[in-house]
Amino acid sequence: MYAKVVVDVNAKRVDKLFDYAVPEQLTDILTVGMRVVVPFGPRKIQGYIIELVDEMHDKPLKSILHIQDMTPELNRELIQLSEWMQQTHIAKRIAVLDIMLPRAVKGKYHKVYRLEEPESISDELYPMFSQNIVRINTLSADDIKALQPYIKDGIVTEDVEVKQQQKVKTVKAVECNVSNLDDALDSLRSDKQKSCLMMIYDEGMLTLKALKEQGYSSAVVNGLVAKNMLKKIDIEDNRDPYRHRDFVQDSKKILRDEQQTAYTAIRQAIDEETHEVFLLHGITGSGKTEVYLQTIADVLDKGQSALMLVPEIALTPQMVERFKARFGDLVAVMHSGLSMGERYDEWRKIRKGEAKVCVGARSSVFAPFDNLGLIIIDEEHEASYKQEDYPRYHARDIALWRGDYHHCPVILGSATPSLESYARAEKGVYRLLTLTKRANQFPVPSVNVVNMRDELAAGNRSMFSEVLASAINDRIQKGEQIVLFLNRRGHAQFLLCRDCGHVPNCPNCDISLTYHKATDELKCHYCGHKEHKPLTCPNCDSEHIREMGIGTQKVEELIYQHFEGAKVIRMDNDTTSRKGAHEQLLEKFKNQEANILLGTQMIAKGLDFPNITLVGVLNADTMLNLPDFRSSERTFQLLTQVSGRAGRADKEGHVIIQTYNPEHYAIQYAKNNDFLGFYREEMSYRKIGKYPPYYYLINLTFSHTDMKEVLLESKHIHQTLLNHLSPSSYVLGPAPCAIARINNQYRFQIIIKFKSEPELLKALTYLDDYYYDQFVKNKFSLSIDINPQMLM
Ligand code: ADP
Ligand code: ZN
Ligand code: ZN
Repeated sequence: MYAKVVVDVNAKRVDKLFDYAVPEQLTDILTVGMRVVVPFGPRKIQGYIIELVDEMHDKPLKSILHIQDMTPELNRELIQLSEWMQQTHIAKRIAVLDIMLPRAVKGKYHKVYRLEEPESISDELYPMFSQNIVRINTLSADDIKALQPYIKDGIVTEDVEVKQQQKVKTVKAVECNVSNLDDALDSLRSDKQKSCLMMIYDEGMLTLKALKEQGYSSAVVNGLVAKNMLKKIDIEDNRDPYRHRDFVQDSKKILRDEQQTAYTAIRQAIDEETHEVFLLHGITGSGKTEVYLQTIADVLDKGQSALMLVPEIALTPQMVERFKARFGDLVAVMHSGLSMGERYDEWRKIRKGEAKVCVGARSSVFAPFDNLGLIIIDEEHEASYKQEDYPRYHARDIALWRGDYHHCPVILGSATPSLESYARAEKGVYRLLTLTKRANQFPVPSVNVVNMRDELAAGNRSMFSEVLASAINDRIQKGEQIVLFLNRRGHAQFLLCRDCGHVPNCPNCDISLTYHKATDELKCHYCGHKEHKPLTCPNCDSEHIREMGIGTQKVEELIYQHFEGAKVIRMDNDTTSRKGAHEQLLEKFKNQEANILLGTQMIAKGLDFPNITLVGVLNADTMLNLPDFRSSERTFQLLTQVSGRAGRADKEGHVIIQTYNPEHYAIQYAKNNDFLGFYREEMSYRKIGKYPPYYYLINLTFSHTDMKEVLLESKHIHQTLLNHLSPSSYVLGPAPCAIARINNQYRFQIIIKFKSEPELLKALTYLDDYYYDQFVKNKFSLSIDINPQMLM
């Protein structure tokens, strides 16, 4: 028997399967998807078992040295998926396998095994554990073989020893270390120590916290420890991040007609186990989530599992609460706010089948379910579903692949579907389901667009138009709540010299430095460069160097200046960086501790508070000015999302959008809540511009410290592409990127537009391989982005 192994070496040349002999004693233990350690040249490295072949190999092989898991982390589906991604995403297999796994099971972390029921294990195996723990790297193959049945029965459980950063969370405790209690008590003089010892003797072990609560000071406890009657230990804390909360049980709602129609169609695909893709287009508040919840309930009834993806910022406590309220402990939640250990716990719950529903952000699309009955991508238009770092992938593509593998339906839901998805629905590739009314039957909020140019002409130089200002005052008086949205994209604060117009730029990148008020520093968001804010203009020495652009902090100050009775909660990167801060701020707002919620993109989604009657968008058009073909679409989506925060209950909602481009179609269609109108108009521009969904795009970006090098290689890249592509495709460029230099690397791009190119993948793979070598030799780098979300 031999194994095909992907080795953990980050190099193009080894991006293939290597054969290793399976030593006799491992034959019964090994399964596909386990990680092993193998000899590789002079080194020992980790690898994944991709295939086991029950035959003799025709060459003598090196042997697998030892194994890293007793139960495989990856199942056959994920291994197959990794092969598909390697072939279609121009990514190394090892890189793909790596992103599938939670960070805690990567690299240097060892598996540990914990003896949960010491009384149930055989006497021969018991000594193997110390304090009921054993590390896998100390076990022989025979030991492992003997332990495996106990793991199946849950007598021994698996965990990772997370060495760095996030250890398994522990709490301090003491355990009893005396065998004869009476003797021990006789030797003690203090009554307090006596009763303390008796209590711990009875309990076996107690946390220091519990002891303190019982009135035993650390002096008492430490005295007993010094006498060796107690022993200090660390015990594992339960890491479930939601454990302190009780979730109110929530039951199904009676569906409205449109919801019922959608539900019935999806239900049929679930029952028939067909891989049908539904585009659920429903305005904000139309009850899409209720449809998700009820279809998931059906999937669970069938004994299957469901995967629900939401954008990171939509993973609000409110959203999680709705799922926990409906499905309780069957829900695993995965988002970036979890520690490494918490994340691994959620992953393990899924792998072991304890969790049947996973609600999570992008990378949860790899959740190791065996028996998926439904996959949902909420807010399917969101750019955050695309991973922008290598290996690049779009969660939607992965979801569709998995839906196909499991023969299960996939729901793409949105109030503002991407043009790509809506066009597919129009063509009948996806099945369109539409919800046009709000589920709670309250009217959609009315929208007012204010022309800020008129305000300026009328002498109002403030951030707040007359209309918005009086509406804010009105709501404050009525005791209602307000959401104010500041669009931050393309709107950072920078310094400008009023005398010569100089803007301080990053010395390493062709981009202006961003001003950070908190530290009074200028920072580059691309290379990390920072410097103190200059007192005078570096160019002309003038003292009139000022901050331009406006940040949330500044707006908060202005609100307090302008509005009496305002109480602001500000949500931006600064106020939410601490773990749990996001949740706490929303909780405060919910409890009416403030009447204004001021924030950036992160407040655009998922909030559902009944007392919000006014939404103000302070600057609707900053995103319109970005040099990207999706800027109108993004603006339309964002305005629609933000508007959806108002009037979610019996009080009428109102939205005020401030803009310098009131006639812009993206703003007008958002005002009228007219997705279809926007879709038609935007499609006509995409057609003229030869952009998606009419054409596919590929963006090749290449860079080097020497501009000449970049220009030279760009000819080679350009020519290679021309040689492989048909005349119906377009190869645009090479041209400097919008940010032409980052970290002293000159950056150029080539954009390919095509409808169908069977040879393209081959050409791109060739280029990727070729420039991988070039990168090693002279640091010339090429990155290939298939279906880019951004062209900048
Ligand atoms: P969406 O996901 O489309 O924004 P939600 O599912 O969050 O919409 O529904 C909006 C509000 O309407 C929620 O408060 C939800 O509880 C309520 N709701 C949804 N469906 C129904 C229904 N069939 N009957 C009554 N209330 C409903
Ligand atoms: Zn100057
Ligand atoms: Zn920089």
